[in-house]
Amino acid sequence: MDFTYAPAPESRSIVDLKASYGLFISGQFVDGHGSSFKTISPATEEVLAEVAEADDADVDAAVKAARRAHTRVWSRMPGSERAKYLYRIARIIQERSRELAVLESLDNGKPIKESRDVDVPVVAAHFFYYAGWADKLEHAGFGTTPLGVAGQVIPWNFPLLMLAWKVAPALACGNTVVLKPAETTPLTALLFAEICQQADLPPGVVNIVTGAGGTGQAIVAHPDVDKVAFTGSTEVGKAIARAVAGTGKKVTLELGGKAANIVFDDAPIDQAVEGIVNGIFFNQGHVCCAGSRLLVQESVADELLERLKRRMGTLRVGDPLDKNTDVGAINSAAQLQRIRELSDVGEAEGAGRWSPPCELPDRGFWFPPTIFTGVSQAHRIAREEIFGPVLSVLTFRTPSEAVEKANNTPYGLSAGVWTEKGSLILHMAGALKAGVVWANTFNKFDPTSPFGGYKESGQGREGGRHGLAAYLKGGDL
Ligand code: NAP
Ligand code: MG
Repeated sequence: MDFTYAPAPESRSIVDLKASYGLFISGQFVDGHGSSFKTISPATEEVLAEVAEADDADVDAAVKAARRAHTRVWSRMPGSERAKYLYRIARIIQERSRELAVLESLDNGKPIKESRDVDVPVVAAHFFYYAGWADKLEHAGFGTTPLGVAGQVIPWNFPLLMLAWKVAPALACGNTVVLKPAETTPLTALLFAEICQQADLPPGVVNIVTGAGGTGQAIVAHPDVDKVAFTGSTEVGKAIARAVAGTGKKVTLELGGKAANIVFDDAPIDQAVEGIVNGIFFNQGHVCCAGSRLLVQESVADELLERLKRRMGTLRVGDPLDKNTDVGAINSAAQLQRIRELSDVGEAEGAGRWSPPCELPDRGFWFPPTIFTGVSQAHRIAREEIFGPVLSVLTFRTPSEAVEKANNTPYGLSAGVWTEKGSLILHMAGALKAGVVWANTFNKFDPTSPFGGYKESGQGREGGRHGLAAYLKGGDL
């Protein structure tokens, strides 16, 4: 029977897009002194809004507002009172979750299925979790004295979730913040600013300054910022580490990754295939902890690859607002260009490239789910972060070979292990140099669990009790 696909798009009418947005400073939306830029929907290239670009004077105004709010209000308020604001924000996020999810998918290109079922619920969970800590800091072991003003710079892959990871612990500990969202995804941060107004958060506790790399630099360099928290590329992370060296500012960096997803021959193959797909095609592979290197035990490699290819053939690529979409749009033309270039290098280096047949929309930025087989350790696609829906497949024979290959990377953010043997899981978890090791699952995020990297994947931990250390004076004792 002939079957025609019937799309199931989520309505975007719930989102009230404004033609232009100002900066959120001291509880108000204000015009910036600088110019402005457009943010687009990467799925259609439609211009969504014009957004202010904060210059040095705007950043200075935001830092001053944050300092005032810190000294006069927020650091003096009992933790139990700060908690009420955080709980209120968490509940408003739940109430407005559909609006947030639609806006996130529009501006970022990620499937609504993910923004609705993963990003936004985990965002609310973070605020609930850290609200709970606000009046219990003396039990966390890092003292109760906040650092002051936190300058926070975040990327485009999880715009609202990265905001929550940064803002919730900072506020719970009594700090105030100046946050810059990524240039390509500013809209949910601006909606979050409206939520702060709705929650009656005292002016200046949260300030959102939109802009590009220069705005981020101005935040990092501002002399009255006490702490810098950054998530993004290793290259910019290193530049930030250099910029704050010797200033006395505290810094946490959450950078890139090149995670190994390791499948042993006794693993339940179908579950492992789901984990591999989730590991690399979730969020178009724009995930710092993506399982971008599949290490599969030689004896099951052929069978696993066959099943993986069959499963990849069922992935639906297209309209992020369609509720059936599995893989959405690549976030920007620049990111698409990077993915294309590195994939072409993979082919030139002799790896076998494969994608399932899939029609890509004419407009917007798209890349099909792709695997490379016959990849060697020396290949650039095995060493560099591609940050797209591209999986490199390598094989191994013994656990020690798997460990050696998995650790042979400048990164150390995450890893996955698939086996039925508990003893092997424990052995691998100890041997892998990665901040997070998932066993028989992948990409599980929970606010109670610390997340962060070894080596060039960064420094410091976000989430859990450990996440408080980054925002308290006793955190580095
Ligand atoms: P990026 O340049 O590191 O951007 C991250 C954030 O830093 C953005 O808000 C960015 O602003 C800002 N920024 C840029 N230059 C800065 C500077 N000199 N000082 C302070 N802030 C600065 O990352 P990207 O260009 O979006 O992506 C490049 C690569 O980074 C990707 O291909 C991927 O490999 C990696 N990446 C990793 C993560 C992660 O979660 N680990 C996230 C995103 C990207 P603008 O966005 O306005 O430029
Ligand atoms: Mg955008």
